[in-house]
Amino acid sequence: MVTEAPKQKVQLKQGMLDNVMRQFSNAAAIIGLNSNIRKILEVTNNEILVHFPVRMDNGEVEIFTGYRVQHNNALGPYKGGLRYHPTVDIDAARALAMWMTWKTSLAGLPYGGAKGGIQLDPSKYSLAELERITRRFTYALGDNIGPELDIPAPDVNTNSQTMAWILDTYMSTKSPAERSTNTHVVTGKPIGAGGSEGRDRATGYGVFLTIKFWAEHNGIDLKGKRFIVQGFGNVGYWTAYFLENEGAILTAVQDAYGTIHNDNGISVENLLAYSKANKGSIVGFAGAEPLDNGEFFALDCDICVPAALGNQITVENATKIKAALIAEGANGPTDVEAEEILLQRGVEILPDILCNSGGVIGSYFEWLQNRSGEIWQLEEVMAKLEKKLRESFTRVMETSKKRGVDKRTAAFIIAIQRLEDAYVQRGIFP
Ligand code: GLU
Repeated sequence: MVTEAPKQKVQLKQGMLDNVMRQFSNAAAIIGLNSNIRKILEVTNNEILVHFPVRMDNGEVEIFTGYRVQHNNALGPYKGGLRYHPTVDIDAARALAMWMTWKTSLAGLPYGGAKGGIQLDPSKYSLAELERITRRFTYALGDNIGPELDIPAPDVNTNSQTMAWILDTYMSTKSPAERSTNTHVVTGKPIGAGGSEGRDRATGYGVFLTIKFWAEHNGIDLKGKRFIVQGFGNVGYWTAYFLENEGAILTAVQDAYGTIHNDNGISVENLLAYSKANKGSIVGFAGAEPLDNGEFFALDCDICVPAALGNQITVENATKIKAALIAEGANGPTDVEAEEILLQRGVEILPDILCNSGGVIGSYFEWLQNRSGEIWQLEEVMAKLEKKLRESFTRVMETSKKRGVDKRTAAFIIAIQRLEDAYVQRGIFP
């Protein structure tokens, strides 16, 4: 799978840690969070950094750097994805781990938050190399992950195949008796390897559902509404799939290689087929025109779905956004300053820790099935997901109204209060 970028990659920005810390401080100040608990939540519990060697196809050995940051486990085992991307570093892993803590807390799951990954550009490696990299990374993490300790899942540039390799490697290091009972060491697995029906689409379905709940709440019909999506990976694709199914029209997509645009609508299925045949890129799709990357967020549309990386909506483009709603499929796509501008302009934001929480809720269902030996049907998984998300959405809307705060702040308040309760009740050892 050695792929060549069809075009120059979009410039990436950093700053997620600063963003999540400020979001946390803002909500903590509003509720007057106990200062001792605040000190605990401001730092990560454990940070694992590993360097490990892998033999490449050409016989040379390359050294990789992998991370796993475990932010907090007051509510249950650490939970969160592994991403393979050049921007993965210790600060990115810290920020993303913190978001996972707030996300699982808001969703009412018995989990804490973690995140990790490897600093690399996966498009530069063959499938066989990616398998060896994944397996050696898993081995290097050793017993720092585990089905009741820290449970990784897919994230940017990782998928069910990555999880299957992790599972197999983890199991291979265990005693025979432990092997069959450890499938829940990762979630997001292929169905045949202990995965759950519906986990593949859970994040995108959740993004779609929160948009739908928002539309219902505001008496808006999604039919005919125009939406744009940044990122056409798992989250971007499934969100677009469900929105299109509801009668909304996809008018622009941006990925790491470029931007395409068609005001008459882009067929989600045709675009998926094209990108699969085009090394994962949307660039060159015949059913749309190419557009300058810088013009993407300024496009005239109703709904904007950032579903790629962090720090994409900034002070530079926030003033130009025309969408009435931003639904955050990605983690941390909107800078704090950009959000202030957007809120002043009356643009609504469905915050990441609510909007993309369908993924980790789907993971929870997979984990529960693995632990109990049950197998649920797709309809059952989807119905349970909808119920959980609706509860979260309603709580966020109520808190936002009661406190007179925006939806992100409301979501953080709910998440932080659940953690505060846990610490107040348990106390601090010793
Ligand atoms: N990577 C996803 C997220 O950011 C899913 C994490 C999980 O399922 O553990 O929420």
